[in-house]
Amino acid sequence: MEIIKNNKGGSKLSCEGYMYTKKSVNKTTLRWECSQRHSRLCKGSLTTDLEVQGVVLTVPHSHDPDHDCIEATKIVATMKQAAINCRAKPAQLLSDFTCKATTEVRADVVRRLVR
Ligand SMILES: [Zn+2]
Repeated sequence: MEIIKNNKGGSKLSCEGYMYTKKSVNKTTLRWECSQRHSRLCKGSLTTDLEVQGVVLTVPHSHDPDHDCIEATKIVATMKQAAINCRAKPAQLLSDFTCKATTEVRADVVRRLVR
């Protein structure tokens, strides 16, 4: 499991090829909903402990995992952080951050950035 922070202070969770958005915080657990809940009408969700170290409960997804999508999300999040902290040109950042990515992931990153 890995937490991906965005610029707005929110966080997402990637786990086994799925991406989750934080939904609610309880006394001892966090509830995460599939980030494709609306686009894929997915009811997949994850309940973890507060430290996000262990999974308490999982609800299955209506679709297959997408590792490329997660990789692209991570790259975009990291790039946006880097863009705030330095003055490198977007094209330079893009080549720096996607040099190890596959063609599919790179294309996905570019698609997200021009959106
Ligand atoms: Zn899902």
